[in-house]
Amino acid sequence: MSDSLPLIGAVEAGGTKFMLAVGTGPEDLRDITRIPTTTPAETLARVTAYFEEAARRHGPLAAFGVGTFGPAGVHTGEKDFGFITTTPKPGWAHTDLLASLRAASAAAVPMAFDTDVNAAAFGEWKHGAGRGRGAVLYLTVGTGIGGGFVVNGRPLHGLIHPEMGHIRPPRVAGDEFAGACPWHGACLEGMASGPAIAARWGRPAGELPPDHPAWELEAEYLALACVNFLTTLSPEKLILGGGVMDQPQLLPMIRTRVAALLNGYLSHPAIAAGLEEIIVAPGLGGRSGMVGALALGVAECGVR
Ligand code: ADP
Ligand code: ZN
Repeated sequence: MSDSLPLIGAVEAGGTKFMLAVGTGPEDLRDITRIPTTTPAETLARVTAYFEEAARRHGPLAAFGVGTFGPAGVHTGEKDFGFITTTPKPGWAHTDLLASLRAASAAAVPMAFDTDVNAAAFGEWKHGAGRGRGAVLYLTVGTGIGGGFVVNGRPLHGLIHPEMGHIRPPRVAGDEFAGACPWHGACLEGMASGPAIAARWGRPAGELPPDHPAWELEAEYLALACVNFLTTLSPEKLILGGGVMDQPQLLPMIRTRVAALLNGYLSHPAIAAGLEEIIVAPGLGGRSGMVGALALGVAECGVR
């Protein structure tokens, strides 16, 4: 790797774990480290210590890139920029994540801060399945459901940032499950996240066999979501990641149902051809978030 590329500190902040790395690009991620998410004080002290040590080993960091669980303050210049804001995760509401990075750097350096899914979408746009595309959507289906969208090379922000897991799909006929979202019950996350599957069927999602009816229902909810996003955002790539998507039968089932639900309405050769080029797995596998956080830091340096 060239020494002329800026060295970036990357953080993927999750409700279960923080992943940390330094590097210059996707092929140069160094010292990848996992820290369990405990209290903010303990976790963030370890983040600071990690980057102090990384700077001693590799030299000063030119910028940081952070993708975090949220909701989060993503608007530069606003007073909650760099904060996790209203999360229900005990102890973590109104936590200043970037303070832990400032504490680790001798000089003020640029800091990119976005949601975990916007970071993943950015990573997939820059280096993965969405490379070179104008509109790239990344949806994670895991402990929660969340979506990030990169349009014209920038993650989409708005009033706050997208919260695509909380759209309201219609209830599928015959599904009596009340829904697991603490705010909305039967929103998409409430019906189709990993914990929702476990609550509906009484077993962890990963333990349900591939021919279990759970997967047909799951594919239906995710297909309804995909139709809503294809018709609202018109992504060129709709990338489905997260632990639940580790079920290999799901992706083709979703494409089939999306095609049926669209009913020929969206006119594009890639849709007519069965959506295999549009609804896809992450090009970066499980690394989308970390690569994306680093790429956001690189972009913050303004070098490429
Ligand atoms: P997180 O969302 O916490 O970042 P993941 O994306 O790994 O983490 O998602 C975890 C969720 O995915 C859990 O609810 C888990 O039950 C579910 N999950 C993990 N592996 C599988 C699998 N092979 N099949 C279906 N669900 C899975
Ligand atoms: Zn919800």
